[in-house]
Amino acid sequence: MPAMRVPPADGRLVLAMDLGASHLSVALVDGAGELYRPQAFDLTPSPDPVKILSQVISAARCLLTGQRDEVGRIAGAGIGVAGLVDPRAGRVLSASNLGWANVDIGNVLTGFLGLSVRVDNDARLATLAEAIHGAGRGCSDLLGLWIGTGIGGGLILGGRLIRGASGTAGEIGHLPLIEDGPACSCGNRGCLEALAAGPAIAAAGREALARAKRKGIRSALRELCGDDPAEVTSRLVAAAADRGDPEARAIFVRAGAHLGAALAGAVNLLNPERIVVGGGVAGAGEHLLAPARRKLAERALAPPGGTVRVVAARFRDTGVLVGAGALVLGDY
Ligand SMILES: [Zn+2]
Repeated sequence: MPAMRVPPADGRLVLAMDLGASHLSVALVDGAGELYRPQAFDLTPSPDPVKILSQVISAARCLLTGQRDEVGRIAGAGIGVAGLVDPRAGRVLSASNLGWANVDIGNVLTGFLGLSVRVDNDARLATLAEAIHGAGRGCSDLLGLWIGTGIGGGLILGGRLIRGASGTAGEIGHLPLIEDGPACSCGNRGCLEALAAGPAIAAAGREALARAKRKGIRSALRELCGDDPAEVTSRLVAAAADRGDPEARAIFVRAGAHLGAALAGAVNLLNPERIVVGGGVAGAGEHLLAPARRKLAERALAPPGGTVRVVAARFRDTGVLVGAGALVLGDY
């Protein structure tokens, strides 16, 4: 199978934007995936798209101000959005963390920026970035998984970026794992996201904290959060696991096992060559990935489970921007 085609490094640039639930980043990107003047902003989520889009437009305009030379080399713009997106229509179908439904951001941004704008799902663009410039380079069949506040995914099969019939392929976070499990952001129950994303890990951390306090057991988790449940985040649980806290490690073993079970299903279905895992929660590294690999090996069929490699993503916070650049320059 052919590896992913690489966009030409011909001096053209892309105005790249990454719109998350609580952050916005913008940069110019070239064909080699290099970022120029990346800027990141905090966003207050608003169900009013005008409020958010006016911030996107002003950040983009600010980036281009006074850069006449670079503006002349811009081939177009690309934006990754955390939500269900119809890439063909340039429309956000739903973004539960932003509180959006059916927002025609492609046309709005095109009108205000005077550039053609491609819109796609953020996890899909981060996967594209890994396939071309990162940990998935050289693969023709790649699954990308991004674990943060939610869990997103991207899919490349036979060297092609897969979008599906309505543009939403790759939503591995909503693989149903436990009937009647914990509530998920999608309105359903027991999805992978509800079991292994940041909020689930933080909630398990708060439970572990309450147990340790009740039993009078000292722990790294207690020390790190100063016994304050409001301080317990998935990052703090990872820091406690780094210090050897057995409860914190057990939280990642459970989350990793859920992740591995979902990956086993995906591997049996799709037979990817490599799985790239990134996002804030993946910063826990082997605490999460080792149990995921174990469960994957236990549950996946052979050979697909025996040949697939699970690796950490190369890009931490910039993958969506790099992917938005590739999307426009490579016209995927
Ligand atoms: Zn769900």
